[in-house]
Amino acid sequence: HTTYWSLLDCSNRDKLYQELIETKELLEKQSQELLEMATIDPLTGLLNRRELNNRSGRLFSQAQRNKSSVALMIIDIDYFKNINDTYGHAFGDDVLQHLGKTLLKSHREHDVVARYGGEEFVLVLPDIDDANALNIAEKIRCDIETTKINGVNITVSIGVSINKDNKNEFDVLFKEADSALFKAKKNGRNRAILY
Ligand code: GH3
Ligand code: MG
Ligand code: MG
Repeated sequence: HTTYWSLLDCSNRDKLYQELIETKELLEKQSQELLEMATIDPLTGLLNRRELNNRSGRLFSQAQRNKSSVALMIIDIDYFKNINDTYGHAFGDDVLQHLGKTLLKSHREHDVVARYGGEEFVLVLPDIDDANALNIAEKIRCDIETTKINGVNITVSIGVSINKDNKNEFDVLFKEADSALFKAKKNGRNRAILY
């Protein structure tokens, strides 16, 4: 390559240089796109499940060092299968996007907001106590309940858990939040319950 390079006249060298710059820019753009694909849920723009695991791992070890508490909540749309069946899958997607926006709107700087799976969303909130975590969950629940989407009312159920003994483990908190969510569903849905 060096030989070629030195044999080229000036204008060819400029052209080659320009091509190198363009290739570099293209590669940077593509690697940015790949990073997004690997971390972001395309429908809602929230973090995906994989990135949720990465970020909360870091967040939990940080909390362990600071001896601060972390809350986790699972937000699940009520009767979402019905919503899809009644209004169509495209409307179902609108509902998911609306919920995504609502969650982004209320999150604090270091909170992790993710779409965990189909119609289930997870929030991880560092430096918070159980009363405040439940407050935030209740605010989200209320916000969703009172906003019509294309004239349709939807509701969510939320399970909340918080670490008490500085044992910061995602899996433990997730199980607890999931069991609180199960209770919320059993007790009539459209409610937030603390484990
Ligand atoms: P519950 O109140 O107990 O939560 O009932 P549910 O109907 O919400 O729960 P279920 O788990 O039975 O249904 C979840 C539905 O979510 C089924 C599936 O078709 C739908 N779903 C999952 N992912 C998507 C998506 O990306 N878009 C749309 N439109 N629907 C989805
Ligand atoms: Mg579900
Ligand atoms: Mg559901």
